[in-house]
Amino acid sequence: MSAVWRSEQVLHLPTFWKGLPPGSELKRELAQPVEYAARWMVPARLLALGLMLIVHDAVGYGMLTLVGAGVSGWWMRLLTGRARDARDVWARSMYCRVCPAAFVAV
Ligand SMILES: [Zn+2]
Repeated sequence: MSAVWRSEQVLHLPTFWKGLPPGSELKRELAQPVEYAARWMVPARLLALGLMLIVHDAVGYGMLTLVGAGVSGWWMRLLTGRARDARDVWARSMYCRVCPAAFVAV
């Protein structure tokens, strides 16, 4: 921040971003982080497959497939949460037109 504080230099980032001309470099750089496109069908299918294998006496493969279902589900949940957090931070951020810097308003 410069020594001379002028409040009009610092704007709410989403408001500043909306006012930028479409196609500008800043519009792309300061855009809100995208949502994570989780494919929940992957763990869901692994879960169904694992149960089917266990029912058909392939217990070892079935358990292994269930572990895969759990890990892939956990991983997607983690990435979904991280993307949501990044979007929340963006929504709370301020942008300084002088520095220029984006920072989180607390
Ligand atoms: Zn500044």
